[in-house]
Amino acid sequence: MKQHGTATVVKHTGSHYLLSELPRWEMIPAVIKGRVRLDASQATNPVAVGDRVEYVIDWDAPEPMGTIERILPRTNCIVRRSVNLSRQSHVIAANLDRVFLVITVALPEIKPAFVDRFLITCEAYQVHPVIVINKTDIYDEYQRAECRYWEDIYSRAGYQVLTVSALTGEGIDAIRDMCRDKVSLFSGVSGVGKSSLISALDPTLTVRTGEISISNRQGRHTTTFYEMHPLSGGGFLIDTPGIRGFGLVDIEPEELSTYFPEMLRVMDRCRFKPCTHTHEPGCAVKEAVDSGEISAERYNSYLGMLEEETKYR
Ligand code: GDP
Ligand code: ZN
Repeated sequence: MKQHGTATVVKHTGSHYLLSELPRWEMIPAVIKGRVRLDASQATNPVAVGDRVEYVIDWDAPEPMGTIERILPRTNCIVRRSVNLSRQSHVIAANLDRVFLVITVALPEIKPAFVDRFLITCEAYQVHPVIVINKTDIYDEYQRAECRYWEDIYSRAGYQVLTVSALTGEGIDAIRDMCRDKVSLFSGVSGVGKSSLISALDPTLTVRTGEISISNRQGRHTTTFYEMHPLSGGGFLIDTPGIRGFGLVDIEPEELSTYFPEMLRVMDRCRFKPCTHTHEPGCAVKEAVDSGEISAERYNSYLGMLEEETKYR
């Protein structure tokens, strides 16, 4: 029996894919047609976890193997750009409802530059981020104050911030509710407690992402394949253990400030357009920084990124 359908890519290992017609969780093995491969972007992987695809499969074949015939347009995606000269990009995941960025203010310390870069990438790719401050159980008085400080900065910037503890379970229900019937991605630097949070969300889940070492003439390198997991409380999650930082997307210096929601809100009132919000008179962003409406931390982050973007051009 030949079956045509639309399904979501839930796993990718080398040239093989597993598809499922979500929210059903029944695997359809598939490969991709050469032509579809060429049609897609310059990314090293034409199809990513979370992609919606049209497929055909003949279940009567001795070893049924579907073919991906078409990739449906993405609502969004997260891309990692390689830092080497090839400038190749790798699509980590597509069609995400939410990205949970897990951070801690201690063990390890917060890295605001990383957080801001991550948020910029989310804005650029139209992915909805939620900041999760984990390990609240270990914070002393000073660290609790620091936690409130960052919570205030990011919520004033326009982001949802949750404070949780994977250890005590504080705040975990809120995350579970947000994951229900959605596709969520979990990210954050190593040690912040991503795996612990995922186990707290769903103890039945063992998330281990496959790492495959590939040797070739350029040397050995490790390729990480991302995978979607069903949550017992409903919804699906993608873990991204290998990500240290997302390479900043190609952002023109003039458009960088549009990816800071709090700057976007006021920049219409800048006297000059375009305005870099650095030296121009009558700059509404600088006024908002002076009045405290925009946090100095975020503004400094903006200046740092602006300088970097300009330098590498
Ligand atoms: P990952 O690298 O982001 O996946 O982090 P892990 O989940 O492996 O956690 C790193 C370390 O932090 C482990 O020793 C965990 O036991 C610990 N940890 C994770 N979440 C919490 C938490 O909420 N409270 C405390 N006290 N420790 C935690
Ligand atoms: Zn301005």
